[in-house]
Amino acid sequence: MKLSEIEQCPQCGSSNVVYSEKKDEIICKDCGAITSELTPEMQKKLEKASEVLKN
Ligand SMILES: [Zn+2]
Repeated sequence: MKLSEIEQCPQCGSSNVVYSEKKDEIICKDCGAITSELTPEMQKKLEKASEVLKN
């Protein structure tokens, strides 16, 4: 599982998340959570990033 494959926020479950390649983080637009690493439990839930930031 890569960060770029996340499609849901692990904190609030929102699909309104973006992936920052520069920071290698997932950022939730709804709750503001920043995810830089995933637990195995998260990995089961999450699949694809809905949007990828290119900067
Ligand atoms: Zn969230």
